[in-house]
Amino acid sequence: MLETKVCILGAGPAGATTALQLAYMGISCVVVDKAVFPRDKVCGDGLSGKVLTLLSRIDKGIAERLQAYVFKEDSWGVTFVAVNRMSMNIPYKPGYQKLPDEPRGFVCKRIHFDNFLVEELKRCPQVQLIEGKAVTKYERLPDGYLLADVSGALQIKTKLVIAANGAHSGFTKEVAKIHMEPAHYVAGIRAYYSGIKGLHPDNLIELHFLKNVLPGYFWIFPLPNGEANVGIGMLSEVARKRKANLKELLLDAVQHDEVLKERFKDATLLGNIDGYGLPLGSKKRRLSGERYMLVGDAGFLIDPFTGEGIGNAMYTARMAAQQAAACIAANDYSATAMLAYDAEVYRVLGPELKMSTRLQKLIRFPWLFNMLMRLSARNKELQDLLSCMFHEVDLRKKLAKPQFYLRLLFVRRSTVTR
Ligand SMILES: Cc1cc2nc3c(=O)[nH]c(=O)nc-3n(C[C@H](O)[C@H](O)[C@H](O)COP(=O)(O)OP(=O)(O)OC[C@H]3O[C@@H](n4cnc5c(N)ncnc54)[C@H](O)[C@@H]3O)c2cc1C
Repeated sequence: MLETKVCILGAGPAGATTALQLAYMGISCVVVDKAVFPRDKVCGDGLSGKVLTLLSRIDKGIAERLQAYVFKEDSWGVTFVAVNRMSMNIPYKPGYQKLPDEPRGFVCKRIHFDNFLVEELKRCPQVQLIEGKAVTKYERLPDGYLLADVSGALQIKTKLVIAANGAHSGFTKEVAKIHMEPAHYVAGIRAYYSGIKGLHPDNLIELHFLKNVLPGYFWIFPLPNGEANVGIGMLSEVARKRKANLKELLLDAVQHDEVLKERFKDATLLGNIDGYGLPLGSKKRRLSGERYMLVGDAGFLIDPFTGEGIGNAMYTARMAAQQAAACIAANDYSATAMLAYDAEVYRVLGPELKMSTRLQKLIRFPWLFNMLMRLSARNKELQDLLSCMFHEVDLRKKLAKPQFYLRLLFVRRSTVTR
């Protein structure tokens, strides 16, 4: 039997980042993943600036190695395409010149990105990584947990469990008693294509708000080598009500949508179209308990508007590692001590999760989006304002308020009547 102070379930972005942060604080841990890396994960593969920011907070060297990683494509902004099929390019920084320190995102297949993080783990002597074993048993002991795989061949006694095993985490359901709720969950599918025409030369990621997909969207995220990640995400509540078949919706969009059909005419679908769930942070939940914390998707923390989960997974991972260090130092793993983790997560991510929940509700009204597009197509100031939205939560706050649109409407009417 293995014994450790900290055992991390899952070596995806949440688990790997937790272990890296612990290692850089000199704390040993065991990480168990049911997969053997490199492994695929169904995802849009879009990584926001949060990822590099967070990695450089742990260790600048890791961030530099990721910057130089050949499997990723830098992306300098977002193209929004409204229901009326008007489009608008919003760079992450107005007037960007692609300088090294300018804000950008990137797109990287998860098979490569997650393997990059796991390779970093393998450099850390404090981390014991066990691959190819699923932890399915969690027995509570007076001084920790006894974790085991289904056969019982793997047994790990740990003082603290950090559950980072993703959207389908058994630990989240069985121990934390958090279950999937269709109003706070998105069903997503992903395909890889090559040969799509009209991708932006600066690899702007594309979000298409198609009427029959709202309040979700269809995306195209440009990858290296002329490939792209193409997918659809739809609120599970809506998908169930409409009995929507996301695969059919995706194929229908690329074959029949007036904007997309030309662009996909000569494109090739690479491999299968696969699906997976996105547990949203549109509801505040308890993320810890005695001797455990939930990080990343296991804590239901995906941004409800953008669908971004990797950045949030990595942010919460670092916070969990810091909390683990505090628990070890004080020898206090009580549910009360763990509350500090919940407080930190909601202090840092709470405001943006709240804003994104409001924005997600607003996009159910396609006319709002259409109007925003129409107005900003003619208004450079509004375009710059939308660019800043990516970095400023206060600005997103404005965008989430109905008064913002009413004012725009009023300005438009008064300009028209003048
Ligand atoms: C269709 C789709 C599109 C998305 N697009 C984006 C996007 O473009 N950008 C973005 O930021 N986010 C996106 N997301 C969300 C993103 O994929 C997740 O938020 C992210 O993967 C969370 O990381 P994680 O480490 O918490 O979980 P995961 O990446 O799911 O990692 C969990 C790990 O735990 C392991 N595991 C599972 N069960 C066990 C077990 N019992 N024992 C041991 N190991 C176990 C798994 O093998 C896996 O390696 C998307 C999600 C979907 C479904």
